[in-house]
Amino acid sequence: MHNQTILHWISSNAGNLVKLSDHIWELAEVGLHEHKSAAALIDTLKQHGFTVEEGVAGMPSAFVASFGSGKPVIAIMGEYDALPGLSQKTHFEKVPAKPGAAGHGCGHNLLGVGALGGAVAVRETMVTHGLSGTIRYYGCPAEETLVGKVFMVRDGLFADVDVSLTWHPSSLNTLWAASSLAMNSAKFTFHGRSSHAAGDPESGRSALDAVELMNVGANYLREHIVQDARLHYVITNGGGEPNIVPPVAEVWYYVRAPKRKQVDEIYARLIKVAEGAAMMTETTFDIEFLTGCYNTLHNHVVGDVLMDAFRTAGAPQFTAEDVEFARHMAANYPPGHYQTMVDNMKDRVGVDVEGKYLMDLVTEPHDYGKVAAGSTDVGDVSWVTPTAQFMAACNALGTPGHSWQYTACAGMGIGHKGMLTAAKVLGLSALKFLQDAELVAKAKIEFAQSVKGREYKTPLPEGHKPPLHQLH
Ligand SMILES: [Zn+2]
Repeated sequence: MHNQTILHWISSNAGNLVKLSDHIWELAEVGLHEHKSAAALIDTLKQHGFTVEEGVAGMPSAFVASFGSGKPVIAIMGEYDALPGLSQKTHFEKVPAKPGAAGHGCGHNLLGVGALGGAVAVRETMVTHGLSGTIRYYGCPAEETLVGKVFMVRDGLFADVDVSLTWHPSSLNTLWAASSLAMNSAKFTFHGRSSHAAGDPESGRSALDAVELMNVGANYLREHIVQDARLHYVITNGGGEPNIVPPVAEVWYYVRAPKRKQVDEIYARLIKVAEGAAMMTETTFDIEFLTGCYNTLHNHVVGDVLMDAFRTAGAPQFTAEDVEFARHMAANYPPGHYQTMVDNMKDRVGVDVEGKYLMDLVTEPHDYGKVAAGSTDVGDVSWVTPTAQFMAACNALGTPGHSWQYTACAGMGIGHKGMLTAAKVLGLSALKFLQDAELVAKAKIEFAQSVKGREYKTPLPEGHKPPLHQLH
């Protein structure tokens, strides 16, 4: 009966949730600059009786909204940052809404509002049926740059949380049990000496040479690190003009690996590579450490609750119009892309989607014990509280991650339906934990065993502040 209150509230408020999601989709604000998006979420939460602490952990667009009191404390996490350059209209061909502008190419407008829908539905159910406990919505900025939750965890905002839940838009409907890669993000700035590159080259010491030699060294280092590690870089400053020996040059690195300890080790070796490059070029360098994060620890007790709730909520019910949109989108994929996706779905997920353009089923979890080759700051939360996440179909099968196609789906019917499904799954799951103290205890026992002997230590240097100046 309580489940019905959750499902009913989400169905009867679907229009408002969709409106809020479309508003954030249009704002498309990038990490740590999601001021209007956060304000829109905060307004809605306040209207529904939540008390909101704004600007937490040193980030103006981070907040924690809370309803109720006492144990258990159930957290639902929302994100709402966009990605640079991925502006797109709700069209199946590439048509930027504002050329060069940011867009919701990872569907975080849906992520933030779906999570809000779940949290508010729980609040309404608590009021209607007189339930005790605490439901919280964590407004987590800058997921794309792996910033928000790392700082929120460091500042103790999850210290009294019993269970944390979240989700991510996808083309599938299932649990997301795989781990993710731990990571460090840092900029290396080399300082040399300028001179006329032709007339007086012997007086110059090129900072760009140092950057290039560091990259060469890193590419050799690559051969002698663990198989699943990833090193990638972009040169963010390569000098001004060819006839001036660059006095300053900068390279931005991500170092990723399945375990936090491996990232620490590879990062230490990368610093040695930078030292070598500086020695060779008679330059100096400094490091701006931006952020770091942990891999994700999946909690099976929490994951099972999410899957049960997903079976109850059912897959999103797409319309013929949605399918048509997805079919047109697939027609524009590069040659072979659709077939590769079909093959991957068979091999990795165990599902035959030949001839399908949208996922209309809830599929069984397929990635227990696997490591996905990306990173998320959900990882840090998962090391301090029992955590699990799932994915709901919000885009066409074969939609690339971080793409204009993703932005398009996130602003129309396909994304809306996946988001409302996610709200239901989160609402039902949070309610289950609110009402079942034994289940909360079981999740905590599993958590305690999984972190035993390797307790969380923030990857951030002492006193480190959020990189508010960092756009992307
Ligand atoms: Zn994302």
